[in-house]
Order: sequence, then structure tokens, then C-alpha cells
Amino acid sequence: MEASNGESEIFKPRNDKREYRRIVLPNSLEALIISDPETDKSAASMDVSVGYFSDPEGVEGLAHFLEHMLFYASEKYPVEDSYSKYITEHGGSTNAFTSMKHTNYYFDINTKFLEEGLDRFAQFFIKPLMSPDATIREIKAVDSENQKNLLSDIWRMDQLQKHLSSKNYPYHKFGTGTWDTLEVKPREKGLDTRLELMGFHEVNYSANIMHLVVYAKETLDEIQALVERKFTDIKNTGRSYLHFPGEPCSSEHLQKIITKLLSKE
Ligand SMILES: [Zn+2]
Repeated sequence: MEASNGESEIFKPRNDKREYRRIVLPNSLEALIISDPETDKSAASMDVSVGYFSDPEGVEGLAHFLEHMLFYASEKYPVEDSYSKYITEHGGSTNAFTSMKHTNYYFDINTKFLEEGLDRFAQFFIKPLMSPDATIREIKAVDSENQKNLLSDIWRMDQLQKHLSSKNYPYHKFGTGTWDTLEVKPREKGLDTRLELMGFHEVNYSANIMHLVVYAKETLDEIQALVERKFTDIKNTGRSYLHFPGEPCSSEHLQKIITKLLSKE
């Protein structure tokens, strides 16, 4: 049932005691809020409909790198890593991932601390702080994440499959990023990775392509008021959803057998 102010109640199973509501903020951010009076943990997740398919030419891994940078610091909370520290010190955990067409951020926390946790979280999307020295340090963190992935057959096979697909379709891209793709190569081309990072955030992090879920102990009306207070300042640039028509593979990319030659020690 649609209410006139953009809210709607959600149907749910009969034995589910939680209450649900869909709301749309004035900046077009769509949120699902869930009230569970019995919970001792609150949680939130924000999905941004942009991922590494949107990495600009010559800066492979930028969307993933931005995901790392947003955790670091914001203008309102400039102490580096204080967001993660706040969450873990108050019984919670936090993480994020960057996929082909989405970047997703989430945390949980003891119920009493949801408001400040949400305030810190919302600042990722409002005014992140991307200082030059943090940029360099975090490129190194992305690089070591990739070094770790290189030891995993699943990651290697996944990247091999991408590498063998059509160069004209974004599935071909390498989405993790390394020191080479985020620092050395952009520099050779005269690109400043930090400026690329800020530009990517500016263009793509628009409220109208974000979706939020907040799960809390409070009533739906209280959660709605909290979400409105914290997230209304995310700007809406009217970004369109990106579509990627076409196929990653045509006949020339299919029916191949890849073998690994093991050298004798
Ligand atoms: Zn990462």
C-alpha cells in the first residue's frame, strides 16, 4: 500500500514480529527500515549502484580503492580509521565489497550506539576526506589485498576468465587494483589518482542510485526520523543507472581449454 508521502508498508510472514517500512528521502535515497524491539544489535547497509565496471580507462581498481578510502576519514570525523574503531569498540563489525555494478558498505553495532555509528557511516557519502598521504597508504593496502588474492586459485581463475573475455565489454576489467594500476600507470599517463578518486565520488555517489537498509530496536517512526536526519545531506546529482548492453563472450571467446604447465623441480 503506497502512502502519499512515498512511504509504504511491506508485507511479511505472519510469525515475523519485526516491522518494515520503505521510505524515500527528499534527495531520492530509498531506504528500507526495520524495527525489532527484541534485538540487541542494530545494523545498516548502503548499496551504491556503481562498481568496477565503471572504473575509468587507465585507472583499474578505482571503484574498489574508493571503497577503501571512504572507511578512512571524513571531514566531520577526520581522525583516520576512527569509524572502524568506533564500530568495533561498541560490539560491532564492519566491512564492504565492490562488485561489477555495485559497491556495498555495512556494519552492525550494539543498539545504544547506532546513532553515532550511523552519523559516521553517512559521512562516507556526504563529505569523505581523501588526504594525499592516506591515498598513498591505502593504495598500498589495496596492493597487499591483491597479493593475497594471487595466492588463491579462485581469484586467479576468475581473473583468467575475465582476461579471456571480450575486450569491448567491461567484464574484461581487473577490478581489484594494484600499486601499478593505481599509482605507477596513472602517473605515467599524467593522471593524479587522488583527483580521479574525488571525481569518481562526485559523479557516481548520487543519492538517487543508493539504497539503504537500517535495522534497529526503535520504532519505525523513530528510525525514519534518524535516517532522515543523517542521510538527507547526501547530494542527488540525478545520476542515471548505468547499463552495459552487450555480451562478455562471443564464439571466439568460448570453447577454450586452459591448462597450466607445471614445471618439474
Ligand atoms: Zn578491498
